[in-house]
Amino acid sequence: MSETFTSPQFDQATRDAVSNDDVTVIIGLEVHVQLDTESKLFCGCSTEFGAPPNTQTCAVCTGMPGSLPVINERALQLSIKTGLALNCEIARYTKWDRKNYFYPDLPKGYQISQFDKPICGQGYLDITAPKGEFEPRRVELERAHLEEDAGKSMHDESQRGGNSKIDLNRTGTPLLEIVTKPDMRSPAEARAFLTELKLILTYIGVSDCNMQHGNLRCDGNVNLHIKVGGEKIATPIVEIKNMNSFRAAERALGYEAGRQLKLWKQNGKTIADAPKQTRGWNDADQVTTPQREKEESADYRYFPDPDLIAVTIEESEIESIKKEIGRLPAQWRELLIKEHGLKPYDAGVMVGQGAEVVEYFLVVAQGCGNSKMASNWVGQEVLRFLNESGEAIDAYPVSADQMTELLTKVNAGELDQTRAKEVLQEMIDSKIEVQAAMDKLGIKAVDNSEIESLCRQLIDENPDVIQQIKDGNGKAVGALIGKSRKLNPNANPGLVKDTILKMIGA
Ligand SMILES: [Zn+2]
Repeated sequence: MSETFTSPQFDQATRDAVSNDDVTVIIGLEVHVQLDTESKLFCGCSTEFGAPPNTQTCAVCTGMPGSLPVINERALQLSIKTGLALNCEIARYTKWDRKNYFYPDLPKGYQISQFDKPICGQGYLDITAPKGEFEPRRVELERAHLEEDAGKSMHDESQRGGNSKIDLNRTGTPLLEIVTKPDMRSPAEARAFLTELKLILTYIGVSDCNMQHGNLRCDGNVNLHIKVGGEKIATPIVEIKNMNSFRAAERALGYEAGRQLKLWKQNGKTIADAPKQTRGWNDADQVTTPQREKEESADYRYFPDPDLIAVTIEESEIESIKKEIGRLPAQWRELLIKEHGLKPYDAGVMVGQGAEVVEYFLVVAQGCGNSKMASNWVGQEVLRFLNESGEAIDAYPVSADQMTELLTKVNAGELDQTRAKEVLQEMIDSKIEVQAAMDKLGIKAVDNSEIESLCRQLIDENPDVIQQIKDGNGKAVGALIGKSRKLNPNANPGLVKDTILKMIGA
């Protein structure tokens, strides 16, 4: 039932078939993450993005005869860290294999990868739906292995028959390929998996996961299990490439499920009748189109790389990396919910903004001693600013300490919400601190005798309103608050209200 709601990416026929339980969509993902190292996996070339083509290469990463690769220790450590955060078994013995294929962006004819001894074995990642689109699910991970990236082909797209060019700057940068089991059942689940994975990787600092720079890329494997009579058949598996954003991934997976259902109704072909096929997602036309036939692993003629020795990983190294992993996103959400009283959805939004935003919130919450207030202000004022400006929290003009000072004044009744928002705006506009902003706005503390004489004046001048309050219409006091603002904008409305009610004995 919930599947229908969760799958706006399915066409109507697929949606109906899924909600009638006639069809189950089976999705697995392969995610390539570029690890955040200064240099490449087997040489000292820089991994910096954006340099002129072919300026960051050497004999090793271009595979010149006689050159010798040397493993980048940092890449190993980041892989172990990732594996630990994803609950993977960490190999104590791991080795390197050559995956042989020729492609213009891989002129040396093989890629150094890991075949039968990946650095990370089985693990899992738990996903939940922020708005309850699907039941919480554990997605199991098959493995995660370390490999070098290929270069980049730049094709002439002018249609005038120009040359294609190759940039080998990216050749040899470290990639961790994370492979899930076919455990996801809808595009929404796949998206939730990708979102949570990216969040974990950025929280533990192993990759910036910048998809525009190609630092996180994902392929999906899709097929359908269809009930026929009392039996269950499976459609041929299709691997989808070029899913360049999470949104594209969701659409591609949804489209592909519909295409397979239609095709199966036409030709009845099952997984036994057709080899795995590779299709590319065409974002402009919102369709998948066929690509080369997918190689079986035997076609790659994997063999151990003769230039690299196997790696043994000590228990002590794993333990020390474990200590570097701070709280993971799921643990942060739990902490915000349990110890700071945030609603699960709000905690999800806050944690989804990254570790720096969570830290900002914690400083403010602890400083002003009011988590609820801090969560409202950070969740609304700060996040709105970040969303509108597209900036990260370190560019937010108001420091956590200044926000704390502002909210402490609200908490103490020195400022009401409306005035505090004006002060915040002034702090942002003029890049000044709380007190300076209050001075600039002419906000100053009003002492009790001033409040009392203000209230006396309001009571004397508005006998009809006072009568209404005395007759039991509590809301009538609002009219007096409005008048009090005009007489003295610095008078705290809550205090004015309380004082008036006390003075008239209501
Ligand atoms: Zn190099």
